Formats: sequence, C-alpha cells, structure tokens
Amino acid sequence: MDKTEKWINWITHFTEVIIEHKDDLNGLDSAIGDGDHGSNMDRGVKAVKEKIDGADYDELTDLFKDIGMRLVSKVGGASGPLYGSAFISMAKAAKESQEPAVLLEAGLEGVVKRGKADPGEKTMVDVWHPVVNSVKEGSLTQSVIDDALESTKEMKATKGRASYLGERSIGHIDPGAQSSAYLFTTLLEAGVL
Ligand code: ADP
Ligand code: MG
Ligand code: MG
Repeated sequence: MDKTEKWINWITHFTEVIIEHKDDLNGLDSAIGDGDHGSNMDRGVKAVKEKIDGADYDELTDLFKDIGMRLVSKVGGASGPLYGSAFISMAKAAKESQEPAVLLEAGLEGVVKRGKADPGEKTMVDVWHPVVNSVKEGSLTQSVIDDALESTKEMKATKGRASYLGERSIGHIDPGAQSSAYLFTTLLEAGVL
C-alpha cells in the first residue's frame, strides 16, 4: 500500500458515512441550530469526492490540501471553513511528517485557530481535543470517541449558532461533534493509526 492510500480510504469511507447520515445530522442541527449541518457536510464531502476520485496522489500534503480547499469553497455553513482549516493545516504539517498524531494535532490547531473555541463550549472541538490527545498517547478507541460525543449533550453552547439558545442548548448532542465522531470512527476503521 502506498503512503496516501489508507488516508484516501479514510476520506472515502467518511464521505459514505456522511451521505448516509445526512438527515441525522440535519436533525441534530434542527434542535440547536438551523438544521443544515447534514446538508452542508453532504455538499462538502461530495465536492471532495468529485475532486479526489480518479486523481493520483503521491504526496499526502496534496491530498489534504485538495480536501481542505474543497470544504472551504463548497460549504456555506460554519463547518466548511472549520473542517477546511483542519485539512489545510494538516496539509502544511504533512510536508514535515506522516505521523497521524502530528497531522491530527495540526488539524485541531487549524479548527481552533479558525473558530477560537475552547473545550467545553459545545462544538466539534469537544470531540477533536480528546481524540487528538488519545491518538498522541496511542490509545484512541471507539469509546473515547463515543464519550467525547456524549459529553457535548450536557454542555451549554457558547460558540456558534447554538450559543444563541443559551441554556436551551443543553440536552442536545452538538451536530459538528457528531460529524467529527464519524470522522474519527472512520479513521479507526481505515486502519490509519
Ligand atoms: P452553521 O452553524 O453555519 O449552520 P453548520 O450547521 O454546518 O454551520 O455547523 C455547525 C457546527 O459547527 C456546530 O455544531 C459546531 O460543532 C461547529 N462550530 C460552530 N462554531 C464553531 C467554532 N467557533 N469552533 C468550532 N466549531 C464550531
Ligand atoms: Mg447549521
Ligand atoms: Mg447554516
């Protein structure tokens, strides 16, 4: 297997899972946002798929850059620039390293640089942050992902559209945390780590 293949498998699998769960993600976003997170992600991953299908990637940096650029340019919602920044930041890191922990940490830094959310604000960062820490320790499991996702339920949103609801955002899973959970579940399944 060449060095980009498992990463391509990951993104391909993520694309399928997002498409399959489009309505579920819209449903989560209907509760605390504007109901479009599934549609936004669906549009984004389809644009990514169109770009990378049949393309030949020798370098991981080129793959991540194409993914990031597509997400930034094709997704209207907040999630496009956030996921886009993650992949563009991973593309920069991939010039120096192929190490999943290094790449994913760069991804998290990209999300945080763009969105300025701290852990505990009920965003995708609440999945990215514990997952990246576990990857660095070599201990990422499905239950780490599930627990991180579940933890967003009792949080009060203080960033993004859900923050307009204040206390009423409590009791709902964050949609971007759910799509990020899919991202990392498919990462585990693709055998990237
Ligand atoms: P929009 O809110 O523009 O409709 P989406 O519905 O596609 O965009 O995405 C919403 C998700 O984006 C939220 O569930 C949350 O996880 C994530 N998000 C929003 N703002 C931020 C932020 N500042 N930092 C990190 N993630 C954020
Ligand atoms: Mg939305
Ligand atoms: Mg929107």
